[in-house]
Amino acid sequence: MNKFIFISGGVCSSLGKGVAASSLGALLESRGLNVRMVKCDPYINVDAGTMSPYQHGEVYVTDDGAETDLDLGNYARFTGSPLSRANSVTTGQVYESVIRKEREGRFLGRCVQVIPHITDEIKSRILAVAREDPDNDVVIVEIGGTVGDIESIPFLEAARQLIHESGKANAISVHLTLIPEVAGGELKTKPTQHSVKAMQEMGIQPDVLICRAPVMLDEPTRRKIALFTNVESEAVFTSYDVDTTIYEIPIVFFDQKLDQVVLKKMGVESRHAKLAPWYSMMDRFAGRKGKVRIGIVGKYMELHDAYKSVYEALFHAGLECGVAVELVKIDSTRLEETDNPDSILGASSAAEARLDGILVPGGFGQRGINGMVKASAWARTNKVPYFGICLGMQIMVIDWGRHVLGWEDADSTEFDQDSKHPVISLLEEQVDVKNYGGTMRLGKSETVAEPGTHILAAYKEKNIWERHRHRYEFSNKYRKEMTESGLKTAAFTPDGSLVECVEWPDHPWGLGVQFHPEFKSKPTAASPLFRDFIAAARDARSCN
Ligand code: GLN
Repeated sequence: MNKFIFISGGVCSSLGKGVAASSLGALLESRGLNVRMVKCDPYINVDAGTMSPYQHGEVYVTDDGAETDLDLGNYARFTGSPLSRANSVTTGQVYESVIRKEREGRFLGRCVQVIPHITDEIKSRILAVAREDPDNDVVIVEIGGTVGDIESIPFLEAARQLIHESGKANAISVHLTLIPEVAGGELKTKPTQHSVKAMQEMGIQPDVLICRAPVMLDEPTRRKIALFTNVESEAVFTSYDVDTTIYEIPIVFFDQKLDQVVLKKMGVESRHAKLAPWYSMMDRFAGRKGKVRIGIVGKYMELHDAYKSVYEALFHAGLECGVAVELVKIDSTRLEETDNPDSILGASSAAEARLDGILVPGGFGQRGINGMVKASAWARTNKVPYFGICLGMQIMVIDWGRHVLGWEDADSTEFDQDSKHPVISLLEEQVDVKNYGGTMRLGKSETVAEPGTHILAAYKEKNIWERHRHRYEFSNKYRKEMTESGLKTAAFTPDGSLVECVEWPDHPWGLGVQFHPEFKSKPTAASPLFRDFIAAARDARSCN
């Protein structure tokens, strides 16, 4: 069975199309269907790897090392769809391969055009995901952007063709719109009517509408929308603003029978929905007692999406540890400017204002680094739980070099090429390791944890598979002095050549990893390291 669901958006962006697509995926999986998720991004970048987190939020990394759009992170958190390079299609990739074929003369003298050549390339990428595994049932294709955008036209045209070629029962269109509320509390359906008209002009009649609205739409409003849009009123759904968590959306849709209507339209018989993991997750949400305050010390603090997977993983960990996690976002440049980090990190403040843990996430570039080093030193000396991810681990090593070993200029060669103590460096700068090249380490690889470490206690097994995205490494030249002065090297690559995890001695929980565990965390199964970090923060708080 190969069915397609195309999810498009109208009226404006940021309506939660990714969450809607993922929630529908979760519901179909709960009925035993094999779901694959694909994101089509109309931007011309070949991938998200070169985009600033300020522009487009975090870069989500897949097992095979693709640097993709953050929506793939939503898919990973809500569904079990395998995700790789193939699940993220951008205009840049599509044009790149069509132009390469043209240069190779593969179009045999024909004029190369958007239709059919660009649309064929889009279709072949979607079909490739569908055919990846003979057991695939449904491919959910989310089309980025808003109907009416110039950039998304080829993707919508490819969707139209696939719907036409597959037949109505095999491919449907789900369109997400906004129902705004105007003064006086009145809900307005007109933008939705126009948005569906724009879809119809593209040759696509939406089969299902999901209306983002502040409250549940009543029956007369749904009937009115149905009348104006040619969509059956039973196929008009509301994605209302929940005051709990986005992870309730699958249940919100289930209660409205979204999955039943979608399956009926595609002629699919399915077994009963098994939503127990989602309900018990919501029970854990409601049962949380108290909170922990976690300071995130980074440099892209204004945009929530810049550290999206980290924030989500903290939330998942809170669910497992029975506490709410309050995120305290701290711009590391602020710490750079102060001689009194306590005033920002609050060791001496009342419990209400105190930070119970510090997390330094991944990042690139020099700005704000010394503020992060201050945060590390503060957490280390005040025995506050600390979690360093990628750059956050490198920061721990720099802090140790500067403040424990007394090398004032200890640094990463990413930030200071002239440092006499380059404790973090490119591999080729380290004499004893060769053959790694100066390229980014990207994607899944194996880490082996040492006995008697926090990392082993978290994963409960020594062979760990997580994803990387970095260029610089703990310098082996300093391994001996670092460990002899007490810094624990807690995990390595299987050949022992690279340090993957460091831990502070005599500290409740101070740990940094060179990989990114946040990418594999789910609301129904938190990342082990995030879980233990939040548990340590919770225990520290209750002791105070
Ligand atoms: N900038 C560092 C490196 O390239 C850390 C990267 C990261 O945190 N993802 O090694």
